[in-house]
Parts: sequence; structure tokens; C-alpha cells
Amino acid sequence: ESFTDMCLHPSIMKDIEFHEYTRPTSIQAQAMPVALSGRDLLGCAETGSGKTAAFTIPMIQHCVAQTPVGRGDGPLALVLAPTRELAQQIEKEVKALSRSLDSFKTAIVVGGTNIAEQGYETLRLLAILCSRSELRGGVSIVVATPGRFLDHLQQGNTSLSRVSFVILDEADRMLDMGFEPQIREVMQNLPDKHQTLLFSATMPVEIEALAQEYLTDPVQVKV
Ligand code: AMP
Repeated sequence: ESFTDMCLHPSIMKDIEFHEYTRPTSIQAQAMPVALSGRDLLGCAETGSGKTAAFTIPMIQHCVAQTPVGRGDGPLALVLAPTRELAQQIEKEVKALSRSLDSFKTAIVVGGTNIAEQGYETLRLLAILCSRSELRGGVSIVVATPGRFLDHLQQGNTSLSRVSFVILDEADRMLDMGFEPQIREVMQNLPDKHQTLLFSATMPVEIEALAQEYLTDPVQVKV
């Protein structure tokens, strides 16, 4: 299968070509048609497989088909990832694959920098204020670590009311890091109609349980 066969938005196709992604990787060939069809997905894949684009492209395509996001509206899609570094890589990929789309905005919401962890409370507050104004400015996609996303949700800086597409990336690592309560909090408060893609490098029973609970009739793919 090629990207051309996937009926992608012309702007997304342009960005795929710009980044010289000539052929889908194995995980992309398997996961993208499923995700684009609207079904839930349970993906077993590691970093380096091209999994980021495998969920990013269907996510952008999904967002383009929705009523545009206005100022003060919550996002249409949410990506939860275990670490700041991974969230930054994902955000970079989202920006790269949506650069040709007019007025398509993305925000990143992650926990404190190393500096902040060393006690620079002012910088931490500054980071929170920046993402607050970004979140309120009307973003289609939010890429976040679970703890900080929930902080913003509880402060009313963002909302789940329009979220209809959710990615749980490196779910096994998120559980290892103790983010299960935050993941559950998000999943339980989503609008009824939503699509979920869960990616994990390993499939321990805890991940299977999470998938069982929050995915609807998922297609399983493995690379
Ligand atoms: P990931 O597994 O998502 O971290 O991606 C690994 C690397 O593969 C990243 O640098 C991507 O930019 C790159 N990549 C993803 N999809 C493709 C593709 N279809 N063709 C070539 N490179 C790709």
C-alpha cells in the first residue's frame, strides 16, 4: 500500500512528500487504513518503526474533517505520552505533517523542566502560563504528559468536550511511571463518540486490561 492510496487531504500529502516519506513503513501500512476508517486500534510497536506518523497522519486527517476550533474551544484530538522528550518529538511530527494546513494549531503541555525540578518555581509558573494562553487560543491538537494535562484540565484551561480522537502512546511506559489514574480520569471524561489508538512496545496484562476497558472492538496490529 502507498500513501497515495489512502485518500489523504492534499495538504497532508504535500507534507508527507516534503518530508520524503516515500513509502509507508510496516506499522504505517498496517495501522493507517484502520485508523483512517474510524476504528479503534491496539498497536504493538517501538520507537523507530514510524509509529508517530502512523497515528499523527490519521489524527490530522480526522481534525480537518471537523468544525474548525475557535478561540476558547477545547481541542479535537489529544495525544498522551510518558515523557517531555517524547511529547516534544510527537509535537514536532504533528507540526511537520500539518504545516501546509491553514490556521491549524497544536499545543504541547508537559511537566517541569529540569531547571524547574531543581526548584526554580518562577520558571515553572512561566511554563504553565505559556501553555495556558496557548491552550486558550484554540488548538486542534494537544500533545501532553498526563499529569500536566490534568492540571490544566482541572484549572479550566482546556476541556475534553470536543475531543473525539485520542492517542495513548507508549502506554506501557505511562503505566510504569504511575500515570494510570490520570489516564483513567481522561478516558472516563471523554465525549461518548470518540476514537482511541493505543500504542505500546510491550503488552503486559495491565495494558490488555486498559485496552479491554477503553477500546471498542479494536483492531490489533504488531510489527
Ligand atoms: P518513530 O518510530 O515515529 O519515532 O519514527 C522514526 C523515524 O522515521 C522518524 O525520524 C521519522 O521521521 C521517520 N519516518 C517515519 N515514517 C517514515 C516513512 N514513511 N519514510 C521515511 N521515514 C519515516
